[in-house]
Amino acid sequence: MSVSSPCEICASADVEGACQRCGQLVCERHFEEDLGLCVECAAEVGDRPTNVPSEEDMPDGVDTYQF
Ligand SMILES: [Zn+2]
Ligand SMILES: [Zn+2]
Repeated sequence: MSVSSPCEICASADVEGACQRCGQLVCERHFEEDLGLCVECAAEVGDRPTNVPSEEDMPDGVDTYQF
């Protein structure tokens, strides 16, 4: 029973966690702990946030320049 399998991305460092998306075993450097994903999946998922708040959704031509 081998407990010290290497990271599947760099194949040199010890595994820190398993990606919850692809199941890849990755080391600390290639594991996004906040997301529970490997860096590859984190790049794909994190690149496109599903809920983007549009705070600067200002209509054009509004008179708010009163002094
Ligand atoms: Zn690695
Ligand atoms: Zn992954």
